Amino acid sequence: MNTPHVTIIGAGLGGLTLARVLHVHGIPATVYEAEPAPTARAQGGMLDIHDYNGQLAIEAAGLMDEFRGIVLQGRQAMRILAPDGTVLLDKPDDGNGGRPEVQRGDLRQILLDSLPAGAVQWGCKVVSARSLGEEHHEVTFADGGTVTTSLLVGADGAWSRVRPLLSDATPEYTGMSYVETYLFDVDTRHPATAHAVGSGSMAAPGAGGKGIQAHREKGETIHTYVVLRESQEWFDAIDFADSAAAAARIAKEFDGWAPELTALITDGDVPPLLRPIFALPLGHKWERVPGVTLLGDAAHLLTPNGEGANSAMYDGAELGKAIAAHPGDIETALTQYEEAMFPRSVEFGSIGAELHDLDDDAAAGLIKLYTEN
Ligand SMILES: Cc1cc2nc3c(=O)[nH]c(=O)nc-3n(C[C@H](O)[C@H](O)[C@H](O)COP(=O)(O)OP(=O)(O)OC[C@H]3O[C@@H](n4cnc5c(N)ncnc54)[C@H](O)[C@@H]3O)c2cc1C
Repeated sequence: MNTPHVTIIGAGLGGLTLARVLHVHGIPATVYEAEPAPTARAQGGMLDIHDYNGQLAIEAAGLMDEFRGIVLQGRQAMRILAPDGTVLLDKPDDGNGGRPEVQRGDLRQILLDSLPAGAVQWGCKVVSARSLGEEHHEVTFADGGTVTTSLLVGADGAWSRVRPLLSDATPEYTGMSYVETYLFDVDTRHPATAHAVGSGSMAAPGAGGKGIQAHREKGETIHTYVVLRESQEWFDAIDFADSAAAAARIAKEFDGWAPELTALITDGDVPPLLRPIFALPLGHKWERVPGVTLLGDAAHLLTPNGEGANSAMYDGAELGKAIAAHPGDIETALTQYEEAMFPRSVEFGSIGAELHDLDDDAAAGLIKLYTEN
């Protein structure tokens, strides 16, 4: 028996890694992606790709040379600052870290470039998926078109349309939101802030779980996540259509903080973007359903801890390898993949979890994390 054509929903890092690993093993797959084109949306910030998950996936995809070509040198530096700007930790990038930083868009592009023409079908938003019995499923797209498949993989992120075939779980608000801002040309236009952030990442944790995290991206750009633990109603009361007022309201939560830190909020070059953080329960799992599985955020969306994209890619690689290792025996492949993925998602999802509960001791916890690893 041959391995069936694999239908993957979602061209994020997880779905593309799966498609690439299958391609390496000569197994055909089609990725259906909701976005109309690869350039439809900026792909978000920097990702540090870990030697215990993300890099292993890139190796399985046969793309290590391409990966090395997009690593941003020097970006593994880490600074931890107190709210008044005092430097609590200044760890330079000595070139020996196991977490090289890349732009998410560059990583996605090397995966896209490694797939055969037509492997990704753009502008195909899945609205529903249903079982046809046995291991067959039918996927329906927003334009009314359908695809029938005997091997369906939901790699469609937080609000997966494939997940309901396996589980009733839906993501819930974690009580925390990020507000994203960007500063451009920082060395010339914002030198004090550029100096405070340094050449890599900077975290300034405050009381009550709030804080400011910033990364120096390609060129002279600083990308910031302002972290606030407030209800969705609290954020609803802020008019994000009025950028200046929204920035001022968010900055008010950081009254008394060093001006080079609050400038990350008030001096943004693009409108501040609210990102409510949702999660599935840690340990989310399901009973095996023939012919369908999930990977990445669709399977185990968690509060961001620097592992989500790495885990999604690792899932994609592991699933691809399992399918290749069991030609004609998809159920064994999916069982093997899920039995390893469920505990692994708890392990990766728990990394840094203690930091979410540290509140006033967050700086000490962060320093411990970065000096012991
Ligand atoms: C603010 C923030 C910061 C983060 N920082 C990091 C970090 O530093 N390091 C890290 O490892 N992780 C980080 N993460 C987590 C990481 O972004 C995710 O875990 C990762 O992107 C999951 O990959 P994925 O392929 O499973 O899903 P996604 O990246 O969400 O990709 C899903 C794809 O499916 C498509 N799709 C969705 N619905 C449909 C549909 N109905 N039909 C067709 N296509 C669909 C989407 O358009 C998308 O292309 C962060 C997350 C957030 C929110």
